[in-house]
Amino acid sequence: MKRQFDAIVIGAGHAGCESALALARTGQKTLLLTLNLDSIGFLACNPSIGGTAKGHLVCEIDALGGEMGVNIDNTLIQIRMLNRSKGPAVYSLRAQADKIQYHTRMKHVLESQENLWLKQAEVSEILVEDGKVAGVLTAQGETFEAKAVVVATGVYLKSRIIIGQYTRESGPNGFAPATELTASLQKLGFNIFRFKTGTPARVKGSTIDYSKLQVQTGDEDIQSFSFMTKDKPKNKAVCYLTATTLETKEIIKANIDKAPLYCGLIKGVGPRYCPSIEDKIMRFAHKDTHQVFLEPEALTTDEVYVQGVSTSMPVDVQEAMYHSIEGLENVEIMRNAYAIEYDCIDSLQLKPTLEYKNVEGLFTAGQINGTSGYEEAAAQGLIAGLNASLYLRGKEQIVLGRNTSYIGVLIDDLVTKGTNEPYRMMTSRAEYRLWLRQDNADVRLTEIGRSAGLVTDERWQVFEEKRRNLEKANELLKTKIKIDDKLEAFLKVHNENVPKQNPKVYELLKRSNINIFDLNAEYGFFDGLPADVLEAVNTNVKYEGYLKQQEEDIAKMLKQEQALIPEGIDYENLKGLRLEARQKLAQVQPRTIAQASRISGVSPADISILIIYLKMGRG
Ligand SMILES: Cc1cc2nc3c(=O)[nH]c(=O)nc-3n(C[C@H](O)[C@H](O)[C@H](O)COP(=O)(O)OP(=O)(O)OC[C@H]3O[C@@H](n4cnc5c(N)ncnc54)[C@H](O)[C@@H]3O)c2cc1C
Repeated sequence: MKRQFDAIVIGAGHAGCESALALARTGQKTLLLTLNLDSIGFLACNPSIGGTAKGHLVCEIDALGGEMGVNIDNTLIQIRMLNRSKGPAVYSLRAQADKIQYHTRMKHVLESQENLWLKQAEVSEILVEDGKVAGVLTAQGETFEAKAVVVATGVYLKSRIIIGQYTRESGPNGFAPATELTASLQKLGFNIFRFKTGTPARVKGSTIDYSKLQVQTGDEDIQSFSFMTKDKPKNKAVCYLTATTLETKEIIKANIDKAPLYCGLIKGVGPRYCPSIEDKIMRFAHKDTHQVFLEPEALTTDEVYVQGVSTSMPVDVQEAMYHSIEGLENVEIMRNAYAIEYDCIDSLQLKPTLEYKNVEGLFTAGQINGTSGYEEAAAQGLIAGLNASLYLRGKEQIVLGRNTSYIGVLIDDLVTKGTNEPYRMMTSRAEYRLWLRQDNADVRLTEIGRSAGLVTDERWQVFEEKRRNLEKANELLKTKIKIDDKLEAFLKVHNENVPKQNPKVYELLKRSNINIFDLNAEYGFFDGLPADVLEAVNTNVKYEGYLKQQEEDIAKMLKQEQALIPEGIDYENLKGLRLEARQKLAQVQPRTIAQASRISGVSPADISILIIYLKMGRG
C-alpha cells in the first residue's frame, strides 16, 4: 500500500466523504481511512436528507461542487418541499432516502474517484513534526504520511451506547467504536467534550396497522436538491403520521426512574432540538400526545424508522411504549432505540478555515466539531477538504461570510461562539436568511467553488446558462404592456386595478395578486425560460424591499468584516477590556472586528476599547 499521500481523511461519514472527494477532485493524492467500509455515508439516524435549513445546506454543498445533493437525488424514495405556507426564504426540501442505496452509491463514487484510496483501518494517532501535521498511525500498526489531515470521526470517538442499564462501548448500529484517537487529540491540546444523541427503534413494517394512520405522500412536480439533476425526482414510497397516546405518557412517567437520562447513567450533553421522548414528556408536561412519523428505511427492507420516539429506556419499557402508539399495537421491534455518547472537540480551537489553531495542516469536520446532522457534517467536510487542498496548493483558503451562506453561518457560529450542546442548523440562526434561499445557492457560491478548483466544467456551464437566463428574465421585467382590453381583463381576473400609464412587467409583478407564471400564461414574455429562473425572479421582485434592507445590513457588516485584527494580539495585556472579554478574545483570536463583536461575552463597549487599542497600535 502506498505510504505517502498529499492528504489523509479520517472517517468516511458525511463529513469525511465530502472532504475526501474535494481533495481528490482538486488533484490531491488522498487516503480515506475508515473503521468499516460498510458504514460509508451511513444514515445512522433518520433515513432522510434535508429539512428546514438543512435543505439549504445541501443545496449550498451542491453549488460548491460537493456530492451530497447528487447522491440524495439518485437515491431518494420520497421528496417534499417544507414550509410552502411560509416565505420562499424558508422553503426547505426534505427527502426520504433509501439508506442502503445512499451508502452503496456513495461508496461507489469514492471507489471510482481518481486520486482517492480507501482503506478500512482505525486511526489511533495523529503524527506531528515541528507544529505541522505529518501523517497518521493506525491501531493495526501502519504509518501513512501526509502534509494535511482531516479528522471526521463523527459519533465514534470513545462512543458508548446506552439502553436502560445496558451499556456497551460501541459505535452506532453495532459498528465498532474508535477507542484510541481521543488520547492523541488531547496530547495535541484539544479540549474534549462529551456529547450524546439518541435514535428511535426500527420496527417491522408488516406488523404495523396502517389502516388507522394518515398517509403522507411526496410532492409531485418538485425540484431536486442538485443543480445538476435534470430529471424531476420520483416518489416511490410514502410515510405515515401517528402519535403517542396518554398511555405512552403514563408508561414513561411510571418508569422515569429507569431512564438513563434521568438516573444519571448518561453524562453526555444531548441536542436541545432533537429530544428523546422521555425528555419531551417531562419538559412539555402539558402536552398529552406527540407527533410520530413512520419512515421506510429503504425499498429493500421491511424496517421502519419511528421518528419522534428516540429513547434510551430499558427494552421492556420500550416494548410497552411503542405498543401504546396508535397503529403500533402489535409491532415487532427489530432494533431497539438507544442513546450514544461520544467525544468531540471544542470548536473554539479552530480557525474559520476549520484548521486547528495549534497544528498546521490539521483540519476537523462534522460531528467531532460539536454539530448534529448529516447536512451540517457534510457542509463542514466540504470546506475542510477544500481548505486542506488549498493549503497544500499554497493558495488562500475559503472563509464563507455569514451573508453568503448557511455554511458560513454554521462555521462562524462554531469558531466564534462555540457550542456546549450538539449544534443543529436552523433558519433563525441566519440573520441574512431572506437572501440565503435554496434556489439561489449557486448564484451565491458556485463561483467560489469554481475558483477553488472543485466546480467542474459541466457544472460551470449549467450555472452560466442559468445566469444568462436570469439576466434575460430581469431584462424582460422592463417590458412595457399596453393598457387594452386584454390587460384590463387580466387585471380584473386577478382583482387588481388598472394603472394610469402602460405598466412595466416589473410593476405588475409588484402587485400581490399577480405572479410571474400568471403573467407569462397570459403574455408569454418569459416563454422558453426555465421555471426555477422565473420562480427566482418572481421572489426577487416580490421581496425586493426586504432584500434591499438586507443588502444595506450586509454592507454594514462587511465594512466591519474588513476591519482586520492582527494575529497574535496579547489580549491579557489590554487592561481596559473586561476580564471575561480578554479571556474570550484570547481564546477565539478573532480575525476581524465583526467576528470579535459576535463572541458571546464581548460587549459593544469592549469592542470600542479594542478599536482604540488597535488604532494606538497596542497589543
Ligand atoms: C444514534 C444516533 C442518533 C442520531 N440522531 C440524530 C438526530 O436526531 N438528528 C441529527 O441531525 N443527527 C443525528 N445523528 C447524527 C448524524 O448521524 C451525524 O450528525 C452524522 O452522521 C455526522 O456525520 P460525520 O461525518 O461527522 O460522522 P459519522 O457519520 O458518525 O461518520 C464518522 C466516520 O468516521 C469513522 N471513524 C471514526 N473514528 C475513526 C478512526 N479513529 N479511524 C478511522 N475511522 C474512524 C467511522 O467509521 C465513520 O465512518 C445521530 C447519530 C446517531 C449515531
